[in-house]
Amino acid sequence: MSTPRQPRETRSAGLEPLAVLPVFVPLQGKRAVLAGSNGGAPWKVKLLAAAGAAVDVYAPEPSEELRAVPADIAAGSVTLHERQWQPADLQACAFAIGAMEDEDDCIAFVAAAREAGAIVNAVDRPHLCDVKFGAIVNRSPLVVGISTEGAAPVFGQTVRARIEGMLPRGFKTWVGAARDWRERVSERFHGFAERRAFWERFTDRAFAEPAHVPTEADLAELLGATEAAPKGGAVTLVGAGPGDAELLTLKALRALRNADVILYDDLVAPDILDYARREARTMLVGKTGHGPSCRQDDINALMVQLAKAGKQVVRLKSGDPLVFGRAGEEIEACRLAGIPVSVVPGVSAAQGAAASLGVSLTHRDAARRLQFVTGHDRKGELPEDLNWGALADPSVTTVVYMPKRTLRLLLERAVAEGLSPGTPALVTFNATRPDQAVVIGTAADLADRIEAAGLEGPAILMVGEALRLGATAIAADQASAAQSFSTALR
Ligand code: SAH
Repeated sequence: MSTPRQPRETRSAGLEPLAVLPVFVPLQGKRAVLAGSNGGAPWKVKLLAAAGAAVDVYAPEPSEELRAVPADIAAGSVTLHERQWQPADLQACAFAIGAMEDEDDCIAFVAAAREAGAIVNAVDRPHLCDVKFGAIVNRSPLVVGISTEGAAPVFGQTVRARIEGMLPRGFKTWVGAARDWRERVSERFHGFAERRAFWERFTDRAFAEPAHVPTEADLAELLGATEAAPKGGAVTLVGAGPGDAELLTLKALRALRNADVILYDDLVAPDILDYARREARTMLVGKTGHGPSCRQDDINALMVQLAKAGKQVVRLKSGDPLVFGRAGEEIEACRLAGIPVSVVPGVSAAQGAAASLGVSLTHRDAARRLQFVTGHDRKGELPEDLNWGALADPSVTTVVYMPKRTLRLLLERAVAEGLSPGTPALVTFNATRPDQAVVIGTAADLADRIEAAGLEGPAILMVGEALRLGATAIAADQASAAQSFSTALR
């Protein structure tokens, strides 16, 4: 049925187009110049000074607000010169801002500043700017810059407010401590993996106790804990969920960020890989229901070999790794090879589909039991040894994974074994993904409906009285959507 194939290295899709390139300009101890005194001038002078620059301001008629700036700064320095700027004023200037009302004066200033090698900004004149300012969240040395490239300033401000709320004030001291400790940590740990482990531990602590001011005692403890932690490669089986990346667990995210190598299946949604560390190797080991697959032995061997070479290996599987994922064999291969192996659970397709549909799998008026069944045996056929009595039970909800090839046979047989033909049955294609689609019917007619629908993608079958309420609601929604669609066509 399936031709074997080899694991193959894959590359992430790369960057989407960027409206602007965000870069950060160090100005500590450098000279900056602002000329003019329009409305934007005072704030810009404060920004330059806050970044540590020595700012010379040239303004023949400074506003009251601009005059007040030199007395109101916490870093850098500001000198106000009450006269028109001259080209010589721009010597050794790293950053220049034109804030004059007169366009021609501004054009001359920008030309002189560029001549002097400065980075140039002109207040309210985007066409004259080398660089533009965005909104800022300041937890220095942690600095977040936000731009909508002029498209939606209010939107940008709201994003800024959200990020403000997400970043506790205490991050300032934690990131400051990181800067102060960086060298000592690098001296203590020479390997990349250990250093990274230290900084992960450090970051976890900062997130857990943002208000705590880090001390030397914290440093000693974090260094000690990192040293004591087991070293070398390891394998983590990670559940990627059914598709929607927001269903990843925090542990899954962390494992992805930590991984040196990620071995993933075709069923893993591409978005999920975007959460990996950029430097991580990604390898498609391609186990699909029907298409060509890598041999399980090859996957096991590759996983073990990479971990033995000291790599942090993530074996990324769709849904939950322990549900119809052959995880047992992978875990055993690692244990036999003496490789530490752990599992991060994920949202299984059944849970993802049920949640998107808003159906309870165990509605207490209808279901006493929930069972997960495979529609495939090793040969891709309907398994001979399914418990048909259990499938015909009127008080069970059955979820069938890999149902596509055998769905008609399975439902026919269940009905023959006593399942009521009118039992609600539905198939969700591409659960939790943007192209999710549902086909609803009964045990008796679902197979025909699926055939007529001609849908593609991973699919999961659910059967049982517990689905009746949900199925009726979804069918009504679909009918009204179809109605408005045909109305629109008229
Ligand atoms: N470990 C996975 C199951 C792997 S078996 C889990 O817990 O979900 C592969 C089967 O899972 C597919 O044939 C299909 O039945 C189901 N499946 C996985 N992702 C799905 C999705 N997004 N929508 C519908 N079914 C899905």
